[in-house]
Amino acid sequence: MHSSQYVEHLADLVIKGELEMHRLDEALGNSNNATLVRRRVIEKKTGVLLTAISSTILDFEELVGRNIENPIGAVQIPLGIAGPLRVVGDYANGEYYVPLATTEGALVAGINRGCKAVNMSGGVHAAIIRNAMTRSPLFWTPSIGEARRLIAWVDEHLVEIRRVAESTTRHGRLLEVKPFITGNNVWLRFSYDTGDAMGMNMVTIATDKVCRYIEDNFPGAARCIALSGNMCSDKKPALINALCGRGKTVVAEAIVKREASLKVLKAEPSLIHEVNVRKNLLGSARAGSPAYNAHYANILAAIFIATGQDAAQIVESSLGYTWTELTEDGDLYISVTLPSLEIGTVGGGTRLPTQREALSIMGVAGGGDPPGVNAGRLAEIIAGAVLAGELNLLAALAAGHLAEAHRRLGRGLHVGPGRHSREGRQH
Ligand code: NAP
Repeated sequence: MHSSQYVEHLADLVIKGELEMHRLDEALGNSNNATLVRRRVIEKKTGVLLTAISSTILDFEELVGRNIENPIGAVQIPLGIAGPLRVVGDYANGEYYVPLATTEGALVAGINRGCKAVNMSGGVHAAIIRNAMTRSPLFWTPSIGEARRLIAWVDEHLVEIRRVAESTTRHGRLLEVKPFITGNNVWLRFSYDTGDAMGMNMVTIATDKVCRYIEDNFPGAARCIALSGNMCSDKKPALINALCGRGKTVVAEAIVKREASLKVLKAEPSLIHEVNVRKNLLGSARAGSPAYNAHYANILAAIFIATGQDAAQIVESSLGYTWTELTEDGDLYISVTLPSLEIGTVGGGTRLPTQREALSIMGVAGGGDPPGVNAGRLAEIIAGAVLAGELNLLAALAAGHLAEAHRRLGRGLHVGPGRHSREGRQH
């Protein structure tokens, strides 16, 4: 490693503008050393000592060029655990502990309480009803007539288009191309099965090659204006994802016994149902919200961060609908539907050491055998955890406990051994 004098010297060169910060990795031939120098630059320029940010197990030699540019260290987020949660689906079948990275007090405790109520009632049933990651390039054509000819030509050449797309990947499979016309603009919404990967890089690379194939071979006038034409729709709230799906479309359901509801959640099923209808359905409609749920984003953010998912995709992943009914026995039927859950167990941040361990807790790290089963299991477990979190919050509102739980668990009034209230431990 370089001496501290050498680090100071390099940091001064960067500060004087004689060496660019992003060239340090190449100049030093080592991204861990480059990280050290960059951090020193920021310390010297801001006067802030970055001792905590410097403390990390990450090997930036592994990450630069894949996951991060210009690293200076890492931030740490506490990791809690909820569960076990019993999930039975097409891929998941068992009891799973769910890792949750968050700084929101009461979140882990709440999901944990939901898991307990659901487990007492037999667990969650989950299913993936659609599986397709999308990329939607935008083409210019000179006229409506040419736009329609382009769509017809793409339809007639699907076999060749599929061959071109799949030549870029071992796991990606082109499933469908859905066209949309607006004036002389054409969007082609490509849907892929991406195995265990969330798939955004995979489908972007595949679709890029297809766009060039179309431009070179379509015997009319069509120009690709943008590889992503926003009908995909990535990292933006969009109803197309809610209607047509993106990533995994997952449904999870449970019948929460009245006894479990009263004992664990301290709420009558009828009141939980009423809160769901008036808050999640009518309240969301009144607010013009496309997400008819209480807090899917809360559970998803904590799991996404823990397991190395792309956190920006919480935007569309948290679209979804919570549905409740009362059964003839007075139990509560509850389901959550997530039309566009975008997750993977390979690629992106899933390869980072702590994130990979978090995936391993659920038995879904890396590629599955056959490919796709790990991502499928993860999606079903996530949907189960979302159901548990949703159930807990609706029950807390029904029982009037929400503010009290946050006062205790979010304001430091419930910390450290010997300072736990009896009421707190019930969560
Ligand atoms: P990726 O790491 O770019 O690609 C996944 C890789 O894993 C591929 O090389 C794939 O090989 C390989 N692989 C090995 N085993 C696999 C298995 N069992 N199933 C599937 N693939 C397997 O990851 P990605 O999911 O495509 O993209 C995720 C990244 O994209 C994240 O970092 C995210 O932040 C970023 N992102 C990109 C865009 C964009 O527009 N490009 C948008 C949003 C997010 P084969 O391809 O040969 O099968």
